[in-house]
Amino acid sequence: MRVTTAFNRILQLPGASVHTVAFTDEGIVIGLRRRRRRLLCRCGARTAARYDSSRRRWRHLDFGACRVWLGADIHRIDCRACGRVRTEQVPWARPNARHTNDFENIVGWLAQRMDKTSISRLLRCSWEAVDAIVTRVVAHHIDDSRLDHLYRIGVEVSGTTRAWSSPR
Ligand SMILES: [Zn+2]
Repeated sequence: MRVTTAFNRILQLPGASVHTVAFTDEGIVIGLRRRRRRLLCRCGARTAARYDSSRRRWRHLDFGACRVWLGADIHRIDCRACGRVRTEQVPWARPNARHTNDFENIVGWLAQRMDKTSISRLLRCSWEAVDAIVTRVVAHHIDDSRLDHLYRIGVEVSGTTRAWSSPR
């Protein structure tokens, strides 16, 4: 099986497929390619007209001891409905987020059960990132269905791998 096929099956991302996989010093960087050409504004309007584009990375849930990032071109669109230039909405992350929906949903779920310092250690991200995510996730409905099949997260704490199990 090709590595891109394997990562497609593992990630099952909406609206995008895995194009490249790179193992770097920082972790695994997964390059995505979009399935649709038409771009979505956060207001719900769709357009094919791009204003400009840039490369962005989103932190995703760790694979074992490896940090994982998704990378993709993100476009700005001149939205007629909004009457201004806006950044497109991608299917795997909330507007302005630098973490994926899956990562943010886990943070949101954990935030109801433990303090932010513990979450930042568990998920190996900054306290500030946890705080910003909690604020953003509370504003949206937490998609609990993404957690239905998640029963264990492997985390590395100070060199020892521990398993954390969902109480469901
Ligand atoms: Zn718009």
